[in-house]
Amino acid sequence: MSKYLSSKYAALEPYTPGEQPKTQVLTKLNTNESPFPPMPEVIEAVRAEAERLQLYPDPDSTMLREAVAETLGVDPDMVICNNGSDETLYFAFLAYCDAETPAVFPKLSYGFYPVFADITGISFRDIPLKSDFSIDPEDYYDAKGTVFIANPNAPTGIPLSLSQIEGIVQHNPDNVVVIDEAYVDFGTESAVPLTKKYDNLLVIQTFSKSRSMAGMRLGYGIADPKIIADLNALRYSTNPYNIDRLAIAAGTASLRNDEVNREHCRTVMENRQYTVDQLKELGFEMTDSTANFIFVRHPGIGGDVLFRKLRERGVIIRHWDKPEINDYNRITIGSKEQMDILLREVRDILKEAGL
Ligand code: PMP
Repeated sequence: MSKYLSSKYAALEPYTPGEQPKTQVLTKLNTNESPFPPMPEVIEAVRAEAERLQLYPDPDSTMLREAVAETLGVDPDMVICNNGSDETLYFAFLAYCDAETPAVFPKLSYGFYPVFADITGISFRDIPLKSDFSIDPEDYYDAKGTVFIANPNAPTGIPLSLSQIEGIVQHNPDNVVVIDEAYVDFGTESAVPLTKKYDNLLVIQTFSKSRSMAGMRLGYGIADPKIIADLNALRYSTNPYNIDRLAIAAGTASLRNDEVNREHCRTVMENRQYTVDQLKELGFEMTDSTANFIFVRHPGIGGDVLFRKLRERGVIIRHWDKPEINDYNRITIGSKEQMDILLREVRDILKEAGL
């Protein structure tokens, strides 16, 4: 760091994104991307919009907000579009956390939450999961802070039911509850319908996973119009043109053909079941994931060893060097072909280890 950096950032520990290899890797199963390329309608929309790049984009991304609203059955004034879920989360930390209102989230969850707390200079309370890695919703009743819950949770993939989410929202009438639904489209019930009933609920979704657009950086929040107005005040105070023309065009085209995305999610869910069955036969244990990833351990081989050996064979998965999950790896569910490569290499590694 330079000597000029403000001392308030001296202790900042930035978020570490999953590896994005610069060279061609055979099988990339480490950052929960979609195995499907963007649909032709999206590519065509981007190509056409590229001819207008001399003009600033619509700062209200009206066309895209209307498409999101129509897809989810809410009013356009209940929608804000942002540069990935990460940006919506950042605005929520800025808007709803301060010295009196800490952030409250599970101890094991999306690793960016504590980083957002640090960069926004607020304190947080992280609540341990149960021993089976599930969240006890009652731990978040009367949380006395702004609640952030990923549903399904990451990296476990374990969901809370809609009634459990509603319980948390009801028991925090004086605080905002943020439900991060990055992985909701792979078999978890969404809390979006509750946003019409509760003015303290913000639901965050993304185009990165279920809509094959991680590279576009596009996400959105759904909430009561007053919450959306708060978030827009922060957006207009930082970067009003946060969504570029290509993203607005791509997102709108994707939602106009959302049935294709749904079909892709169904395929990923089938591939998840296939992979789970095969890995269980090989002796793996895992959480009950409703995400496009699984969280697995094998009693006979360390998580770090499996991670390293797979990497040597060109298969990249995600491992965290944290004592409580050191045995585990998170594996993205990709195409059937990718899962077969993973399974082949895993079988080989287990055989080599005499397991
Ligand atoms: N929330 C969770 C739980 C995630 O795992 C991720 C992906 N890293 C995000 C949000 C951010 O997604 P996006 O690509 O929309 O910024």
